[in-house]
Amino acid sequence: MKPNKRIGLVAHDAKKRDLLEWVDDHRGTLERHELWGTGTTGGLVADRLGLPVHRLKSGPLGGDQQMGALIAEGRLDVLIFFTDPLSSMPHDVDVKALVRLSTVYGIAMACNRTTADFLIASPLFNAAYEPVDTDYSDYISRQLDRI
Ligand code: PGA
Repeated sequence: MKPNKRIGLVAHDAKKRDLLEWVDDHRGTLERHELWGTGTTGGLVADRLGLPVHRLKSGPLGGDQQMGALIAEGRLDVLIFFTDPLSSMPHDVDVKALVRLSTVYGIAMACNRTTADFLIASPLFNAAYEPVDTDYSDYISRQLDRI
């Protein structure tokens, strides 16, 4: 990861206001990085706060999957995904998939404001960083003789 991070922004409807507040509180830092957002979240950040955001499709319409593709392709370093823990949603599986892919590729992920605050306060947020536990060469070259 380079000092200039590629940051994904997603918030469920009940958490969009919280995310907008968080982005606004940290705009001085965030405007030095590259922002990506699911359709509605990204639109709100761009329209209400005037920050440049690459907008994907709306989350439930495939935007979460597009975010996942960015992670799988090594094109995202940080994911800020404010989830609503009190509602079940038709795209619950997409949330799970994003948490899983973030784990697989060792990107920094925050699902609530506290973690996001800790993350952005880290000196690593503006520094180069190399994830250490994301070597899957053994998995890729695993023996498939028994299949
Ligand atoms: P949205 O998607 O930003 O388009 O509302 C968020 C989500 O995945 O629920």
